[in-house]
Amino acid sequence: MPGFELFGDNERKEVNDVLNSGVLMRYGFDGMRKGHWKSKELETEIQNQFQVKHAQLLSSGTAAVSVSLAIAGVGAGDEVIMPCFTFVASFEAVMMLGAIPVLVDIDDTLTLDIDSVKNAISPKTKAIMPVHMCGSMANLQALKAICDAHHLVLVEDACQAIGGTYQGKALGSYGDVGSFSFDFVKTITCGEGGAVITNNSKFAQNADHFSDHGHDHVGTDRGAETHPFLGYNFRISELNAAVGLAQVRRLNEFIAIQKKHYTILREALSEIPEVVFRTVPEGGEENYSFLNFFLPDLEATRKVSVAFKEQGIDGCFHYYDNNWHYVRKWEHLKNIKTLYPIHEDVRNGLKYLETKTFEKSDYFIGRNLSCLIKLSWTEGETKERARKMVNIIRSVLS
Ligand SMILES: *Cc1c(COP(=O)(O)O)cnc(C)c1O
Repeated sequence: MPGFELFGDNERKEVNDVLNSGVLMRYGFDGMRKGHWKSKELETEIQNQFQVKHAQLLSSGTAAVSVSLAIAGVGAGDEVIMPCFTFVASFEAVMMLGAIPVLVDIDDTLTLDIDSVKNAISPKTKAIMPVHMCGSMANLQALKAICDAHHLVLVEDACQAIGGTYQGKALGSYGDVGSFSFDFVKTITCGEGGAVITNNSKFAQNADHFSDHGHDHVGTDRGAETHPFLGYNFRISELNAAVGLAQVRRLNEFIAIQKKHYTILREALSEIPEVVFRTVPEGGEENYSFLNFFLPDLEATRKVSVAFKEQGIDGCFHYYDNNWHYVRKWEHLKNIKTLYPIHEDVRNGLKYLETKTFEKSDYFIGRNLSCLIKLSWTEGETKERARKMVNIIRSVLS
């Protein structure tokens, strides 16, 4: 998945444009910048590539998820239904707004389980936030129907699935608003950065203002601009945007390489009858950044995971035993360990985590291995890797 593997002259050229003008900020300094508007150009590229009306670049993916919720009006005391298998940033973003993350089970898609979402809806629910983990998506059509029926916003965290599609639409563009991350290990990188995309012009204007202290961006004198509402600073710098500009132009090339490597591994593993691949909802196409599969039980999965590590198959994650991506080890959230007081509504809203169990998710995450697909492998290396993986799995299962 990581775009940093193919970092080179294109990225250097874009960054040098910025260094040569010395304008590191995305707004203003029109005369000094010699025509270079890297952030604006990258936003236009994103709009074109993903066929979406608006893109707003931000300082990180975490900022993007927060902004995507804020511009849709999610705030104090609102509940956001989201999966218990995600990166911690997704619930951090909800908490930052004083809203309540309502974690629910996932299914064999490794994303939101539709019945669990339905059962979690309450009068306080404001949004449903699928997280398209490890390169593939939730059943967005089913989620949209639930949102329409209950007047909820559909907010996609597409940080791990850029370039994937659902019913012909780019992931992130199917719901009301979607977010991407361009951190250092994502499919394309800015070093640090993120974006929200939307077809809703009001949301887009909100994102433009909110991410820059509420500035309305009218005229050329920042000091004279008005502030229709309060905001923060979630701006990206021109240096980061310059890197992203070179990277986004290569996204299709990156996805094609990933697909090739993914397919070699998948075809090899398909020969083992006990290996079952993650379900991709009908009408969806992954971005091939990970190959995800299930083994028969937790014990076998743990053994294969250890054997992979011992025998040099790196980048395969058993998220059941990992601290970052699965609810099982999120003690800091369950015990609400914050540096500052948290509102009583949020504290009460999170009480369910003291007792809630996630058996369905345990069943899938316990048996899942998620293997990162690298861009830098040669075809020969990929085939050799596939052969080793097959041998290891066969010997554990025999
Ligand atoms: C990486 C990631 C984020 C946050 O992105 P950063 O740019 O690292 O802040 C949010 N959600 C998911 C699912 C991610 O994988």
